[in-house]
Amino acid sequence: MSTHAPHAPHDPGVTRSVTLPTTLDEAVAALTAMPAAVPVAGGTDLMVDVNAGRLRPAALVGLGRISEIRSWEYQDGHGLLGAGLTHARMGRPDFAALFPALAAAARAAGPPQTRNAGTLGGNIVSAAPTGDTLPVLAALEAVLVVAGPGGARRETPVSHLLSGRELLNPGEVVGHIRVPLLHAPQTFLKATGRTGPSRALASAAVVLDPARRGVRCAVGAVAPMPLRPLEAEQWVASLIDWSMVRVAGGVALAPEALRAFGDYVAMACIPDPVPGPDGGETPALPPAVLQLRRTVAALARRALGRALA
Ligand SMILES: Cc1cc2nc3c(=O)[nH]c(=O)nc-3n(C[C@H](O)[C@H](O)[C@H](O)COP(=O)(O)OP(=O)(O)OC[C@H]3O[C@@H](n4cnc5c(N)ncnc54)[C@H](O)[C@@H]3O)c2cc1C
Repeated sequence: MSTHAPHAPHDPGVTRSVTLPTTLDEAVAALTAMPAAVPVAGGTDLMVDVNAGRLRPAALVGLGRISEIRSWEYQDGHGLLGAGLTHARMGRPDFAALFPALAAAARAAGPPQTRNAGTLGGNIVSAAPTGDTLPVLAALEAVLVVAGPGGARRETPVSHLLSGRELLNPGEVVGHIRVPLLHAPQTFLKATGRTGPSRALASAAVVLDPARRGVRCAVGAVAPMPLRPLEAEQWVASLIDWSMVRVAGGVALAPEALRAFGDYVAMACIPDPVPGPDGGETPALPPAVLQLRRTVAALARRALGRALA
């Protein structure tokens, strides 16, 4: 573990030290020893907050030299993905062959310089509604492997962290993300407000799970965390001839069924307002929200259509 010299020891508003551990346990030890320290991976989210004056960490623990979290491996039918994998690395063909939707999300996450530095772990812990990997991880029902003091490791579903049901305790670091190897089509689509790299207005991930005869879908950016339209998933899964689902897809679903799926997903994620308790007139959705709902419907329809194509 190496430590940089203090930058400005007498200014309480300035970061005092940067520690660069080379193992997860060293990172946890550094964070435990300095409760005011903040972990930093690629810094693409954190430094925006620092530069804007929203965050003034007393110390930083850099995760960039921890080689054990910068790669991925197979384990018991799962991929164990290091939290330090960059978006650029996840976008490469070898990764895309096994985790196509995650690779597509990583390729869509900002401009090249951001993808070269930004990491999967940072995307998760930042938990921005527009985080591109988040709907994919929700659809994959991914699980975090969190490193804690004393060499402890605990697992928690990504969705628990994103919903706030479980938080990272002081000193804990996300080490890995466990995702199932489904060997089946997976898609991610994102709508933005302009051409070129930008944040999602809405996104949709679809994952086929032939072994469980399941379709899993998650919609991003329209709520604080990805939304799973469970009834729509179950309905469309019942229409699919699972004996025909292969790695390359090739299962036809009638255009009306795809359209109905898109509408079902969109209505679940952006429902109509409910009438007030006095039975008064139900307020209409504003035009911008109706447009967003149409966007979600189109994304979900196309994402499923491409997965089955
Ligand atoms: C110009 C620009 C465009 C962007 N566009 C997109 C986009 O289109 N889509 C998108 O999804 N994102 C986008 N982002 C956001 C950002 O690049 C991603 O969220 C990125 O994945 C963050 O990763 P990082 O390694 O840089 O995180 P950091 O900035 O290093 O850290 C972010 C937060 O996570 C914590 N953290 C990081 N790693 C761990 C860990 N292993 N354990 C515990 N805590 C950890 C940090 O303490 C911090 O709170 C953009 C950012 C910029 C600057």
